[in-house]
Amino acid sequence: MLDLVITGGSVVDGTGARTRTADVGVLDGRIVEVGRIDSAARQRIAADGALVTPGWVDIHTHYDGQLTWDPTLAPSSWHGVTTAVVGNCAIGFAPVRPGDESFLIELMEGVEDIPGSALAEGIDWRWEHFPEYLDVVESLPLTLDVGTQVPHAAVRAYVLGHRASDRDHEPTDTDIAAMAAIVRAGLEAGALGFSTSRTLLHKDIHGEYMPGTFAVEKELRAMGRAMVGLSHGVLEVVSDYLHEGPEWRWITEFCRETGRPATLVCTSPEAYRDGLLFRLTEDANSEGLQVRPQVAGRPTGVLHGLQSSVHLFRRYPSYQGVGALPLAERVALMSKPEFKARILAEASANQALRDHAVAVLWTVFPLGTVPDYEPTREQSVAGIAVAGHSDPLEVMFDLLVAEGGSELFYQPLGLYDGYRFDYFEQAIASEHFVFGLSDGGAHCGVIADAGMATFVLTHWGRDRTRGERVPVETLVRKLSRDTARTYGLDDRGTIEKGMIADVNIIDFPALRLHRPQAVHDLPAGGRRLVQRVDGYLQVIKSGVPIVVDGADTGARPGRLIRGGR
Ligand SMILES: [Zn+2]
Repeated sequence: MLDLVITGGSVVDGTGARTRTADVGVLDGRIVEVGRIDSAARQRIAADGALVTPGWVDIHTHYDGQLTWDPTLAPSSWHGVTTAVVGNCAIGFAPVRPGDESFLIELMEGVEDIPGSALAEGIDWRWEHFPEYLDVVESLPLTLDVGTQVPHAAVRAYVLGHRASDRDHEPTDTDIAAMAAIVRAGLEAGALGFSTSRTLLHKDIHGEYMPGTFAVEKELRAMGRAMVGLSHGVLEVVSDYLHEGPEWRWITEFCRETGRPATLVCTSPEAYRDGLLFRLTEDANSEGLQVRPQVAGRPTGVLHGLQSSVHLFRRYPSYQGVGALPLAERVALMSKPEFKARILAEASANQALRDHAVAVLWTVFPLGTVPDYEPTREQSVAGIAVAGHSDPLEVMFDLLVAEGGSELFYQPLGLYDGYRFDYFEQAIASEHFVFGLSDGGAHCGVIADAGMATFVLTHWGRDRTRGERVPVETLVRKLSRDTARTYGLDDRGTIEKGMIADVNIIDFPALRLHRPQAVHDLPAGGRRLVQRVDGYLQVIKSGVPIVVDGADTGARPGRLIRGGR
């Protein structure tokens, strides 16, 4: 007797093989049969006409705090994610010395824009050392499987105290040994990797750079060497320096010394020029190393709007006067003609600032109710204004307050030269690049990319009109098996016998992203932008439906993943 049979679906199994009609049989949380299944089962789900895929493995999230108060890990769970890796970008909440918790909160708030008040109220600090943190996570009810990484900033803060962020303070050999020992102990307890951040983009709420940003090669290599001799472990590096030889030297040396993979988040504009990142990646992989730059399905974008923390008018005096009001009241006041006249006058008082604002509006696109994330120049706010012979600032203002202030505006933060997805076409086609950067759980006030997998499948696999599409089989493989393999998770990511039964049942024609919206559901009433989705009929984790027609079922089959076990 099987626990579950999913019958008649179009199985896209995550190996890259062609879609085929098959039943999927599940017993004790594992897939035990794929094909024609006549065995009896406790539960049957008819999936005729639907896609049956592996659950998505999202290797780049920041649910470190949220997982301690919210077992659902929404919105990622709504979007078919069944495994989430946290501890990215050098930040997390362990290890921590008692009394130093606020330092890590301020880092997370500054770097990842998660309200500090929500973290302070939401997290119950029942750990000091990383292995203790894992024990706590293991004891929590979870909907998804969660993998962790030892975050460099927390390790540094633990060992160096208040000097952790001091760029002129070089740790002693003893300090470095102490840090490496923490990393090693975390990995031995089951962390999936170690993460470090070397970008000037990442600062705490006081404007201090992330601890480790300026770490010297000796320290970085010692952290990496903590993985020598282990059968698991990934190095995650966010770096502004991936156009430079020395940065590649220590990263590739890490891969050589440990035999472990490195996954890279490239924040160096120079590395994106003339295909440099592709060439350097190709070189490293041709030597047999596993270097895996992360690519999002589209440019990471900030969302402007009255529901967001960002929009063009937010610094002008008239807006400052209403900015703290609830949305409906704000929109009511802003809709008065005298308010509009006043704020447009403020915005035009300084010609240089006005010119800058208009220039920005060529890269700001109203999302509408059916978001288009690959818009043309003409679809920008400035493009709309030019077509209508209107003032771009006035058009921006009118769109901002229309529809009760619900409109949001997508501003790609880079990699959108010429309004084209050339970089993404090349990166998605590369076997060395992996999907990442959904940043689930983070950037609550300005970004809503946790539904990236849904975007990838709908846009690249179905809707794209401005260039080539990508076969659904390839996309599914890249969203499940390839990301799982990058983190050494060989027990998931495909619909094959023996695999963990993480399965999405998708009404593909109906799969659709909504326009993001602000909700105030974080602890202490904190606000975040979330994006709803239609089309996931069922999200199944270890054989148990966790989301059915968009709603949490209350089942908590997720668990902590311990690497090396
Ligand atoms: Zn991140």
